[in-house]
Amino acid sequence: SLNTERHEYDVVVIGAGGAGLRAAIEARQQGKRTAIVCKSLFGKAHTVMAEGGAAAAMGNVNSADNWMVHFRDTMRGGKFLNNWRMAELHAKEAPDRVWELEAWGALFDRTKDGKISQRNFGGHEYPRLAHVGDRTGLELIRTLQQRVVALQQEDYENHGDYEAYIKVFAECTVTRLLKDGDRISGAYGYWRESGNFILFDTPAVVLATGGIGKSYVVTSNSWEYTGDGHALALLAGANLINMEFIQFHPTGMVWPPSVRGILVTESVRGDGGVLRNSEGKRFMFDYIPDVFKDKYATTEEEGDRWYTDQANNRRPPELLPRDEVARAINAEVKAGRGSPQGGVFLDVSTRLPAEEIKKRLPSMHHQFKELADVDITAEPMQVGPTCHYIMGGVEVDADTGAAAVPGLFAAGEVSGGMHGSNRLGGNSLSDLLVFGRRAGAGAAAYVDGLKARPKVAPELVDEAHAEAVAPLGRDGENPYEVHHELQRTMNDLVGIIRKAEEISEALQVVEKLKERVRLVGAAGSRIYNPGWHLAIDLRNMVLVSECVAKAALLRQESRGGHTRDDFPGMNPDWRRKLLVCSTEDGSTVTVEEKVQPPMRDDLISLFDRGELSKYLTDEEMTEFDGIAK
Ligand code: FAD
Repeated sequence: SLNTERHEYDVVVIGAGGAGLRAAIEARQQGKRTAIVCKSLFGKAHTVMAEGGAAAAMGNVNSADNWMVHFRDTMRGGKFLNNWRMAELHAKEAPDRVWELEAWGALFDRTKDGKISQRNFGGHEYPRLAHVGDRTGLELIRTLQQRVVALQQEDYENHGDYEAYIKVFAECTVTRLLKDGDRISGAYGYWRESGNFILFDTPAVVLATGGIGKSYVVTSNSWEYTGDGHALALLAGANLINMEFIQFHPTGMVWPPSVRGILVTESVRGDGGVLRNSEGKRFMFDYIPDVFKDKYATTEEEGDRWYTDQANNRRPPELLPRDEVARAINAEVKAGRGSPQGGVFLDVSTRLPAEEIKKRLPSMHHQFKELADVDITAEPMQVGPTCHYIMGGVEVDADTGAAAVPGLFAAGEVSGGMHGSNRLGGNSLSDLLVFGRRAGAGAAAYVDGLKARPKVAPELVDEAHAEAVAPLGRDGENPYEVHHELQRTMNDLVGIIRKAEEISEALQVVEKLKERVRLVGAAGSRIYNPGWHLAIDLRNMVLVSECVAKAALLRQESRGGHTRDDFPGMNPDWRRKLLVCSTEDGSTVTVEEKVQPPMRDDLISLFDRGELSKYLTDEEMTEFDGIAK
């Protein structure tokens, strides 16, 4: 690989979404020479698509809000499986990260008295999402990119080179992390356009590659979400946790087929939209689970009053956490009460004046008009569940984002723990900022502590090269066919409702697909060749799918984003257990149980005994009673 270009950095951040950019800014601010590598165009990361907002307990709209309320909501949303230290840091630091964005130029929507406005979202007790219409992600990315540019201008003044300390490598895909002994020493990849190879010498890598949605047919995720970071971490020897927990967003478009899965933001419900079945019934009132009974309205009148008077009314059940709403929609459709195109109705047209809808939900208005010829100010939308977000990811240290492999860090959707078994809407954008910053700082501190720089062994580069070029010119199977079979298998057999026989069947298919992936062929050259890119991505998607299916089979309970038809209830014993995925040989995934450390006394004391008893084991309750005394 003589013609491989080579670069040396202190920190290489893989991913230019919210997590990657915030991490890179932090590493650069700590004086580290930082590279940002992303496989799509700069500015096109998934984060751009985020609509609803960033959750932060600033208390601007309801002054009763604070980090403790946010912490409680997050733990409830995740059904108490969350890494509580992450949930704590997140709730405490999110407001500062949002204000910091404002200082860097973000223009949030305002309240009447000029504060950053906050909107309601499922599972959040108070209006909490800082937002910019329904295009919050765009503003977040714009602001972070602007900050990167500002730092580059500073570097130009000081060093005569804009890219002296922070450089973006866009449309560049990383395929392997390299190690020197047990430590990270570099990253290997290729330029999408030319197919030429690139090597980074670096002691620290921050993974910020987002999710895995492209393993499913119906998904809100874009083409980039092939689980690359999850797989890179696994192959480098790190662990993944919580991989059985996938969030199926309750409201994706169901029609026309070409746009199936595209997201319909939760803000539609947050701003008053309601769900109805074919009989016109607001069915969510029939689906309030016991653990949430006292927090949600039992009549439409009370639910409606809540929008104007939150102190004296409970919220409508359309705003239950996403897993609950997705299951309810699924059940209505299954019972034959679905909409003509196989979803249910989501109606905002009878709830808000047309002008108000266009102002609050401009993207949704545009999206339905353009893609489905539906005017949401005049008629209901048809919606159904879509694969949206993976709670599972790289097991990291909460404070620093460090993975088990020295020099490896992860933040954002690719990391696991923060959201437990189910993420609340709005908690991702804030997660990216809080833990992106922490991972960037963690990587910088790690580099400072190194005595010698790890070295890249040439054999490893040759191996990475051989692996990447293998599908080229091979007379093998079409990668698109393999991909499609994987997507169908995961969708149908490890989807929103699961059972042992089906998951086992999926695992058998995945096993065969692994073989087929090793033999796929891509016609053509290395120059902009999407078939070849997919052939490379398939390794990651299959590996990650194996993690999801294996963990899903082992977890014999239903919790958050993991619903087992054959084990319908939540089981307190399972709440304490994490399923940890790893691989020794780079091809077979092993899953092991690990017990979570108990929540710190001051944090557990934030909850009522009655509520805790719904989640905790008897043994844990006895301990709690000890603390409460
Ligand atoms: P991303 O923003 O996805 O960035 C990933 C980056 O990694 C990209 O730059 C990509 O090119 C790069 N990458 C991936 N693989 C490689 C590789 N092999 N080599 C190099 N680069 C690579 N959350 C909220 O909190 N509020 C919302 O309102 C909200 N709305 C959403 C709406 C939609 C339609 C969707 C799909 C999600 C929404 N979410 C929302 C979730 C949230 O947007 C994502 O979880 C979050 O943006 C993920 O950010 P990230 O920084 O982890 O990754």
